Amino acid sequence: MKLYISADIEGTAGITRWDETETGHPRYAYFAEQMTKEVVAACNGAMQVDRGCQILVKDAHDSACNLIPSHFPTCENIRIFRGWGSDSMSMMAGLERDCDGVFFTGYHSGAGMDTNPLAHTMNRQNNYVKINGMIAPELMINSLTAAYLGVPVRLVTGDKGLCDWMRAINPNIETVAVNEGRGRGTISMLPSVACGKIQAAAKRALEKPAKDCMFPLPDHFHVEISFKEHFRARNAVTYPGVVQTSPTTVEYDADDYMDVLNMFDWVL
Ligand SMILES: [Zn+2]
Repeated sequence: MKLYISADIEGTAGITRWDETETGHPRYAYFAEQMTKEVVAACNGAMQVDRGCQILVKDAHDSACNLIPSHFPTCENIRIFRGWGSDSMSMMAGLERDCDGVFFTGYHSGAGMDTNPLAHTMNRQNNYVKINGMIAPELMINSLTAAYLGVPVRLVTGDKGLCDWMRAINPNIETVAVNEGRGRGTISMLPSVACGKIQAAAKRALEKPAKDCMFPLPDHFHVEISFKEHFRARNAVTYPGVVQTSPTTVEYDADDYMDVLNMFDWVL
């Protein structure tokens, strides 16, 4: 079995403030460690189903050098992709068609959602990104990448708003809501409890038929981006096909999702 894990930090158990996500801040090290523990829990759950499971972990937050490799079990089947791959797959770099499933850990609500104080989409420069009229968190952008490659999404861990969002789209996809956003705060389960639930959910997730866990892939993509600052919309229209529809809003249409990813890579 081949598994891909995309790991972020803003949906890690207990995380609440931006400085807790930033390298060099005193509280960052604690959350980088908890981010790592949650990925390790997901790996352990997968290896309960298939001891020889080949796992590629994409560190997908900020510098993409957050995970602590020495915290992983000694296992030659686990590899970690640190840093950015300089391609439009972004947080999904390295995912291939022959993969049996994707896990998302530490994921967070998107810009325009009110269910995580750290809600954002790719950066903090937009009010929202919409795909086919729906607010698109990073989870949607990346689940569509998985769907594009024919790979099922099996597990999402992060804030409750994001988990509820995914369950509304496909209730077969396992979720673990480790945090619940309350205004500028969060109510979180304890870190060790979160890891236990993630390991159990990872195991359940890989025991389900792949066909039940597909994220729906539309045959056309209408994208709308609302920037916080007008000059970003002005810059965005330099990308072919991007149309400005208000001082701060741009729109883009494509049938092939890779075209959308290429546009995001330049415009977001
Ligand atoms: Zn992040």
